[in-house]
Amino acid sequence: MAVERTLSIIKPDATGRNITGRINTQFEDAGLRIIAQKRLRLTREQAEAFYAVHSERSFYGDLCEYMSSGPVVAQVLEGENAVALHREIMGATNPANAADGTIRKQFGLNVQENSVHGSDSPENAAQEIKFFFGDRDIVG
Ligand code: ADP
Ligand code: MG
Repeated sequence: MAVERTLSIIKPDATGRNITGRINTQFEDAGLRIIAQKRLRLTREQAEAFYAVHSERSFYGDLCEYMSSGPVVAQVLEGENAVALHREIMGATNPANAADGTIRKQFGLNVQENSVHGSDSPENAAQEIKFFFGDRDIVG
């Protein structure tokens, strides 16, 4: 297994409930290291650009509205097999289907407000990291 980096976003439902620290603890307990982190509020246009891959999906408009509705915390996580490990500890997209102990099972509210985003491949992680961070923002 290789050391990888992945892009994580703590979503507005979680920042609104002040549980970013509890989520970060789960990342760190799983062996992921937070090597870049910033809190920001996406504009609607930025949310549309970030989720452009989903532009044909029925939930795209609602998703972009939600992701720009409050602060998010964007992060680069590093560790062995980080992309798949992060997705494993996040759990399934719909919290109702997520395994016990996963972040979405514990904290997610519904299929949209599911508390966290994670890249789905190393290639997409590299693109998504660039969306939020420059090289000098990342200190491994
Ligand atoms: P994941 O975040 O698990 O990679 P997707 O990439 O399929 O899931 O979807 C991106 C985000 O869009 C989800 O995390 C969720 O916030 C939202 N979403 C996905 N499916 C639905 C749906 N059926 N209804 C509403 N929102 C959805
Ligand atoms: Mg996805």
